[in-house]
Amino acid sequence: LFNKDLGQHILKNPLVAQGIVDKANLMGSDTVLEVGPGTGNLTVRILAQAKKVVAVEMDPRLAAELQKRVHGTDDQRRLHIMIGDFMKVQLPYFDVCISNTPYQISSPLVFKLLEHRPLFRCAVLMFQREFALRLVAKPGDELYCRLSVNVQLYAKVEHIMKVGKNNFRPPPQVESSVVRLEPKNPPPPVDPKEFDGLLRILFTRKHKILSANFKQTGVLQMLEQNYRTYCSANNLMMEDSFDIKSTILGILESVGMADMRAAKCDMDDFLKLLLAFNQANIHFS
Ligand code: SAM
Repeated sequence: LFNKDLGQHILKNPLVAQGIVDKANLMGSDTVLEVGPGTGNLTVRILAQAKKVVAVEMDPRLAAELQKRVHGTDDQRRLHIMIGDFMKVQLPYFDVCISNTPYQISSPLVFKLLEHRPLFRCAVLMFQREFALRLVAKPGDELYCRLSVNVQLYAKVEHIMKVGKNNFRPPPQVESSVVRLEPKNPPPPVDPKEFDGLLRILFTRKHKILSANFKQTGVLQMLEQNYRTYCSANNLMMEDSFDIKSTILGILESVGMADMRAAKCDMDDFLKLLLAFNQANIHFS
């Protein structure tokens, strides 16, 4: 009946569905984006509180079923269904995003939302429990990772409820959680590629001291190559005595971070380090 490849697990508990919608604090003037509406258990509740819903559904059969559900009601003209892959469609304007998302696209979905302009007010999203815990993890937490830091650079993230597998039909393999995302507006003026490039190196071994992560040959070669490219693009002379290894160690020591570990670094630490590297013309992308 349901298509497993599309992660079709219908939320059947009405209390959970209503709880999710209520957490978005909708206003009557809001346009809401929903990803993967399925049969519309969230959609009809959103329509009761918002002005308009744009729902992106990949399965034409479910889209037709949802269309039928609102047919002949006042909801019909306030629901716009787009049939297609969320990752491929061009998103329209929206104030809020609410979604019991297909878990296969969790990470690209979050970044697609955060890159969209103008920025939305908030998103209330259901994810697989572990993914949700990664999103909200803080320095020192077991699940603190590159994803936590990349997302928390651009948004305030909050875990709002646990949802057991038996609230879905058919029940998925894993437990779920709902998180609330509130984009920082304006977004911090940081190049996401540079920031992620730095995090990739630091989180390869997140419990190692930072200077050790920079000692791998592949990392040093890549950074030296970037440095050469940057210098020639900006007409800067590269000094004969330039040594990538000692340059990097010098920067880590100048900000007092050579002996720190990514697992314990907070946002300010990462931003301070990226700034110090960039000021020395060391780039990560
Ligand atoms: N929102 C419904 C609910 O809560 O009962 C259904 C949730 S179900 C977990 C995920 C839904 O996303 C399914 O309807 C599935 O067809 C749809 N879907 C899967 N991949 C998608 C994609 N890439 N773009 C848009 N919809 C997708």
